Amino acid sequence: MTTQSPRVTRTPPPGPLSAGAEAWRNATRFSFPNADPALSEDLLRRLRSACSAVSASDEARVEAGRDWWPLSALWAADATVPALPQVVVAPASTAEVAAVAALCNDARVPLTVFAGASGVCGGSVPLHGGVSMDMTGLGGISDVDAISQTVEARAGTFGLAFETELRERHALTVGHWPQSIEMSTVGGWVACRGAGQYSTRYGKIEDIVVGLEVVLADGTVIRTGGAYPRSAAGPDLNELFLGSEGTLGVITSVRMRARPIPPAERRAAWAFPEFASGLEACRRVLQRGATPAVLRLYDQTESKRNFDFESGAVLIVLDEGDATLIDAVMGIVGDECAGATELSAEPVDRWFEHRNRIPDIAELVGAGLVVDTVEVAGSWRSLQAIYSESIAALRALDGIVAASAHQSHAYSDGACLYFSFAGRPPRESAESFYDAAFDAVTFTTLANGGTLSHHHGVGVNRARYMRRQHGAGLDVMRSIKSALDRNGILNPGKLGFDL
Ligand SMILES: Cc1cc2nc3c(=O)[nH]c(=O)nc-3n(C[C@H](O)[C@H](O)[C@H](O)COP(=O)(O)OP(=O)(O)OC[C@H]3O[C@@H](n4cnc5c(N)ncnc54)[C@H](O)[C@@H]3O)c2cc1C
Repeated sequence: MTTQSPRVTRTPPPGPLSAGAEAWRNATRFSFPNADPALSEDLLRRLRSACSAVSASDEARVEAGRDWWPLSALWAADATVPALPQVVVAPASTAEVAAVAALCNDARVPLTVFAGASGVCGGSVPLHGGVSMDMTGLGGISDVDAISQTVEARAGTFGLAFETELRERHALTVGHWPQSIEMSTVGGWVACRGAGQYSTRYGKIEDIVVGLEVVLADGTVIRTGGAYPRSAAGPDLNELFLGSEGTLGVITSVRMRARPIPPAERRAAWAFPEFASGLEACRRVLQRGATPAVLRLYDQTESKRNFDFESGAVLIVLDEGDATLIDAVMGIVGDECAGATELSAEPVDRWFEHRNRIPDIAELVGAGLVVDTVEVAGSWRSLQAIYSESIAALRALDGIVAASAHQSHAYSDGACLYFSFAGRPPRESAESFYDAAFDAVTFTTLANGGTLSHHHGVGVNRARYMRRQHGAGLDVMRSIKSALDRNGILNPGKLGFDL
C-alpha cells in the first residue's frame, strides 16, 4: 500500500524570483570549467523516455540551482543563482531513479539530487551542472507495521505531510520535528543527518532510521537495514548513507521507528544566573538518565531576544509521552534545577508557538545584514569553552552586530550549541565576513575537540573544514566514494570529496 500524500509545493528560498527566472538565467555564482556545457540530444531523448517528468525550462533550472544557504541570499539580491543544471528530472518511482542514474553514469554526467531544497549549506546546488533530480515526486507512506511500530515512507515525502498522515491515519508519530518540517523531506533528513526539536526524547534521524532503499550511481537498487532492531551481520550500511548528502547514492525510501501519539505533555522553565550553570544542570539531567523531549538553554542575549528576560539564561523544558514517565523525568529536571529560579511555562508556550517560523532572510539582507546560524556539538567537558571562545571570536569580527547561542539538543556525553550571528560589513566584504564568522565558530569548536556540524551538514559551505575534522579519515571516505561512484557523478564538489 502506498498512500500518496497531498502534493506539497516547495517553499522557495529567498530571492527576487518575482523578477522572473529570466533575470537569473546567465548569472551563476559557481561555474566550473568542466561543467557540461550542454547535454547531448541523445541523452536528453533517453532521459525523456526513462523518466516521467523532464524539464529544461528556466524556472525548473533556477529552482534546482539554489537552496536556503543564507550566503546565497546575498547573491540572490544581485539576481545571481549559485549554479544551474542543464536539465531537471522528476522521477515518480525507484525504477525511474535507477534508469536516470544509469544513463548519467554511462554518459559521465553529474547527477545532483534535490528535494525540499531547505538545506542551508548549498548541498543540493548542482555545482558542476548536468542533471538535477527532484525527489518530491516520490511521496507517501508505503507501509506501516503497527505491531513493531515502524513506518516506511518514500524519500520525497514532505515532513509535515508525513507526520500529519501518520498521526491521523495510524495514531503514530516518529517524533522528528525539525524547524523546517514543512519545507524538508524524509530523504533530506537522512541525507543531512538532521535533528528534530524533540530529539532528546526521540533521537536524531540516525537513531530513528531502521532501513533504507538506495539507488547507487550505476542504477543498482539496494536495501540497507531491515525489519529488525539490531544486527551483527557486519557493518551497518544505513550509516553509510546517513549524512552522505547525495554523494554516495539516491535514497528512495526510508523505514523509521514510530511511537504512539503521546497521551500526555508537561512544560516548565527556569532561569539561571549565567549560561554555564544552566549547561551544568542540563548535563546532570541527562546523566541521571532523564531525556525530556525539549531541553533548550538560551544565553543571556537570546533569553532577552526570545523571552524578554532581562538577566540570566532561560531553560525551557517540555516532555511528552506516558504520564508516569514524564512525571519521573520532570521530577529529575526539577531536582537538578533546584538552585535556579522557576518561571511559569510562558517561555515554553512562546517557543512552541514560533518553533516552525521561517526567518525572513530576504528582509534582513535587504537591511544590509549578513546572517546565519552555526550548529556544532561538543562534549560537556568542552562545551563552555566552545561557547565562550566562539562568542568572543565572533564579537571580534569587523562589522559584527550580534552573536549569541543556545544549547538545543542534549545527550549524556555532550550537546549541540547553536550559534547565531549578524553583521553589517561593507557590501564588498559581505562574503569574507560570512566566511570569517563560520571560521570563528568552526575553528574554535574543532580546537576543543568538537564537530563542525550537529545537524545542518556540510554541503559547499563547510567542505573546506572536512580535512581538519577527519584527518586521514577523509581519505577513507574518498575511497568509499570512488568505490561506490566510480565516475564521480553523484553531487560532485560536496562533503570535501573533490572540487
Ligand atoms: C528555516 C530552516 C530551519 C531549519 N531547521 C532545521 C532543523 O531544525 N533541523 C535540521 O536538521 N535541519 C534544519 N534545517 C535544514 C534543512 O531543512 C535540513 O537539512 C533538511 O534535512 C533538508 O531536507 P531537504 O528535503 O530540504 O533536502 P535538500 O535541501 O533538497 O537537500 C539537502 C542535501 O541532501 C541531499 N538529498 C536530499 N534528498 C536526498 C535523497 N533522497 N537521496 C540522497 N540525497 C538527498 C541533497 O543532494 C543535498 O545534498 C532548516 C532549514 C531552514 C531553512
